Amino acid sequence: MDLFMKCAIEEAEIGLQEGGIPIGSVLVRDGRIIGRGRNRRVQYNDPVLHAEIDCLRNAGRIQNYAECTLYSTLMPCYLCAGAAVQFGIGKVVAGNRQTSRERGSSSSPTGSRCSTWTSTSAKR
Ligand SMILES: [Zn+2]
Repeated sequence: MDLFMKCAIEEAEIGLQEGGIPIGSVLVRDGRIIGRGRNRRVQYNDPVLHAEIDCLRNAGRIQNYAECTLYSTLMPCYLCAGAAVQFGIGKVVAGNRQTSRERGSSSSPTGSRCSTWTSTSAKR
């Protein structure tokens, strides 16, 4: 498995230990993690604190996101996909397309499938 996806899963596992929703994310540039985060909606009673948003916040402001790859253990929702497009993040790698609830299984953050898509804004 991809090292960066493993790091995103680590974040998801921390979130689960905190009693939260097990979704993790890391932002990578030049082969280095420059931000990481996890879904903290439950922990902070914050409806928009998704893993990808937490990750982007923790990375701080970046001049150019086109060379960045956003890893998420789950296919980003409209909010997070919108953020990826808004910032022009070059690539998004998702660990799984479905939540554990949709799969009808336990709340394991690990997924067996991996999807990659390129932000359309990065191609302009
Ligand atoms: Zn989201």
